[in-house]
Amino acid sequence: MKWSPEAEAAINKVPFFIRKQVKKKVAAHVENLGRSMVHLADVTVLKQQFLTKGGMAKQVKGYDISACFGSAGCPHAACSTADLMTDLENLVKQADILSFLKASLGENIKFHHEFRIALCDCPNACSRPQIADIGIMGAAVPVVKNTDCTGCNFCVQVCPDQAVTFTEIEEKPVIDQDLCQCCGRCTQVCPAHTLETARTGFRILLGGRLGRHPRLALEMPGLYSYDQVLTVVRTCLDFYKTHSKNGQRFSLLFTRINQVIPPESG
Ligand code: SF4
Ligand code: SF4
Ligand code: SF4
Repeated sequence: MKWSPEAEAAINKVPFFIRKQVKKKVAAHVENLGRSMVHLADVTVLKQQFLTKGGMAKQVKGYDISACFGSAGCPHAACSTADLMTDLENLVKQADILSFLKASLGENIKFHHEFRIALCDCPNACSRPQIADIGIMGAAVPVVKNTDCTGCNFCVQVCPDQAVTFTEIEEKPVIDQDLCQCCGRCTQVCPAHTLETARTGFRILLGGRLGRHPRLALEMPGLYSYDQVLTVVRTCLDFYKTHSKNGQRFSLLFTRINQVIPPESG
């Protein structure tokens, strides 16, 4: 779908928290009309539908799942989250968050009430999992093998986090696990297979948000398998539906529970 400069400028003025949804709707609307170019008038019509009284409530579906461009061939992808998208969407649909939100908010439901999941295929985090209720990040853990290292230094140069150093005595790289973000780039450039991928999986971040009281998500320690991700998300959705009142975001529940329960008592 192509956008005229005027349509592009107009869509960029839509508040950021609904821009993606409005853009999607405009594109679908224009496609239904059998056109491949969006004009300013198309944006104006759809914008009115969203911003008039009650219009936004009709567009809210209760959740939003976004992904990075890893599956479109991004060379930085460490572990694909593409297959997770369908299973997560099914889980969230089963949880019927829209009915849950409507039960307490009625027609006051807005986009900022939606439960947000962001998927990305590497720690560059282009889909911003740090500000989603749940963020899932593909990761690849490197390991140093016993094969001969050429000393080319490619791994040191490519690491964005200065996590690799080369030891002249052992003639091998050493990875600082505290600095390593598990992006897998060092393994991709190693010509001698001295650095290889030990395992791939997903990092999980919980409880991020923007808005009036922004907060970055907290990361669960460790790396999780596909099935474990689904279990964590299922558990989080249950927790959210049990504790959230009047549209409270998932991350606010963390804050509230932290205040009520001192960390030492669990
Ligand atoms: S998060 Fe990583 S894999 Fe996804 S688009 Fe960004 S750089 Fe590419
Ligand atoms: S996996 Fe990424 S962050 Fe970790 S050492 Fe290799 S290049 Fe650096
Ligand atoms: S581990 Fe691989 S990339 Fe790093 S210096 Fe040795 S051969 Fe080169």
